[in-house]
Amino acid sequence: MNIFTRARIRHTLHRHAIPHSLWTGIVENLACLQGMGAVEKAHLRKLSTLFLAEKHFVGAQGIELTPTLRVTIAVQACLPILGLGLACLAGWTDVIVYPAAFRVSRDSVDEAGVVHHEEQILAGESWSRSPLIVSWSEVEQDGLANHAGRNVVIHEIAHKLDVLNGRTNGFPPLHTGMSIPQWSTALNAAYQQLLARVEHHHRTCINPYAASSPAEFFAVVSEYFFCSPDVLHTHFPDVYQQLQLYYRQNPLLRQPLKHKNTLADTQKSEQW
Ligand SMILES: [Zn+2]
Repeated sequence: MNIFTRARIRHTLHRHAIPHSLWTGIVENLACLQGMGAVEKAHLRKLSTLFLAEKHFVGAQGIELTPTLRVTIAVQACLPILGLGLACLAGWTDVIVYPAAFRVSRDSVDEAGVVHHEEQILAGESWSRSPLIVSWSEVEQDGLANHAGRNVVIHEIAHKLDVLNGRTNGFPPLHTGMSIPQWSTALNAAYQQLLARVEHHHRTCINPYAASSPAEFFAVVSEYFFCSPDVLHTHFPDVYQQLQLYYRQNPLLRQPLKHKNTLADTQKSEQW
């Protein structure tokens, strides 16, 4: 990082600091940040400030972009990159916020040349070099403890990280020292187990939407990694370990009581 970049960052952190009362009010209420230590919180606040300075928020369907809305989305967008850095989110600028789930329609052409029209209701969406799009009502629900394992902002940010090596396929660029075979084996085995459960209409331990594709599996297990790490660690310990190496964080340690229980449960629980 050159001296001008450092000076610009210092200037941004100083001039556009998130007000203390706004920050503490949001951080204390977000379930995914419970148990986070002061050092990590301070780093997260810096990243969130820089995120807000770099990204352009756009309100859809008349939604008011309040400071609470902007900071709540920024802090959850920066949680996955706490150990990766803001450069991972370069290449796109706009954050589009809808008041509630939004409708998208797409045309696709199959191998026979037939055009199919599809309509979907989405809580969030992101593509390479395109805006991050989220529903505010979903973001608000995700902040609550009773929406465990769900976080639309983290889900969409995981897609943004996944696509950094060119394709959204559940295989983000791994760090030096990480093993590609270990990553592939851990995530593929868990994905296949989940897929088999879904195909046989059996109950699943995580959101069955993860079985949609390897890309969705990576995005959903990332939600659990940050928001319900005990669930992911219990059912897919190898996936948890790979995500710990990739994200360079260990969210389980932020849940000391659950962590102890989880370690005990891991030995006696079944896979599902
Ligand atoms: Zn997705």
